[in-house]
Amino acid sequence: MLVREMIKAGEIRLIEAHCMDPWLDAELLYYYLTGKDRVDLFLAANQPVDKELQRRYFDLISQREKRIPLQHITGSQEFMGLTFQVNPDVLIPRQDTEILVEEAAKIIRGDNPRIRQKRGWKVLDLCCGSGAIGISLARVCENIKVTASDYSEAALETAKLNAEKNRVKIKFFQGDLYQAVRKKRFDMIVSNPPYIRTHMIPILQDEVKSFEPLMALDGGEDGLDFYRKIIADAPAYLRKNGVLVLEIGHDQAQDVTALIKETKKFTKVNVVKDLAGHDRVIYTATLY
Ligand code: GLN
Repeated sequence: MLVREMIKAGEIRLIEAHCMDPWLDAELLYYYLTGKDRVDLFLAANQPVDKELQRRYFDLISQREKRIPLQHITGSQEFMGLTFQVNPDVLIPRQDTEILVEEAAKIIRGDNPRIRQKRGWKVLDLCCGSGAIGISLARVCENIKVTASDYSEAALETAKLNAEKNRVKIKFFQGDLYQAVRKKRFDMIVSNPPYIRTHMIPILQDEVKSFEPLMALDGGEDGLDFYRKIIADAPAYLRKNGVLVLEIGHDQAQDVTALIKETKKFTKVNVVKDLAGHDRVIYTATLY
């Protein structure tokens, strides 16, 4: 069997298993297994593959066939140009979430005229999961202090590892939302909380609903449970002109804006779209 024939056979099995990107995944598993890249593959396409490599390749394909996320097989995901370790204890960082990091970074650097400039930002990443948001912010912004918290001990273990691997210093706390940071005040709170409506979970892709942590996805009956709590308590944890930056589901801008307005403690609410044109990030600042 030639390299290209092997990958083609892998692709066909992934098509039959209804994977979303069968060709890409079949290729990526080959790169993962061999440490080769696209150019190597191009050059090696017509070379024979030994039996042992075939066996190992199709073993990976079998895992993916069961709809195990590619990132659980390879153990990592790229986010903001950094590599994050992932496992079933943490939500796999999504590309859409990079928009949140970019918006937060613009604000911190003073590149957003709607938000007052400050120095030495103290940032809280609530529901940090793998740590992707807080860690990448700490990497792209100079002079900020990041604190991160999560309810899941297991997620925090992964987040700590990711902070170390990406060489940033972050204070981690375990607790339910603000529980672990009582009495602290921040200049910015960022969060990508669980926001999927409970009854929508069964219609998610297999990779998500069967292999990613439900507690990182389930936002309650209307998907807003975490926003209610995060927004209601945010003013108590934010300094003057403190900024709240939240990821939202594509159809949640109105509801989350209403929750923010209800508090009467924030300035105008701004909505930012993701690359697909969906509402994805909301930010606002405290009035005083
Ligand atoms: N965007 C994620 C998904 O669609 C959900 C993330 C979340 O609930 N915070 O799977």
